[in-house]
Amino acid sequence: MRDDEPVSSPLPYVEVTDEAYATQAAVGFRPQQFEFAVVLSGRCPRCGHPSTTTLVDEAYRKDVPPPDPGYRPLMCECEAEHPGRPAGLRGCGAYWTLWLEGEA
Ligand SMILES: [Zn+2]
Repeated sequence: MRDDEPVSSPLPYVEVTDEAYATQAAVGFRPQQFEFAVVLSGRCPRCGHPSTTTLVDEAYRKDVPPPDPGYRPLMCECEAEHPGRPAGLRGCGAYWTLWLEGEA
């Protein structure tokens, strides 16, 4: 523990959303398209920790018609400590939606 750093007690785990989260995530999150998945990485708009979400669903399988572009629900999946978090979960509890472009 260092005393000369600003002490910011860890954010408690709370499942919350805010319009601003989606706005910030739209700017800060970078989608990387793979064959069967989209990987979204950026900083959580609530806690500011790096978060990576992998979206894999049947919409990305080749035998299914391509999905419409649309809003996808995302949650913070950072690795940082957030007190009160249920066992087995990651992140700070923040969730938001991100507009995902369809394949042209
Ligand atoms: Zn977070």
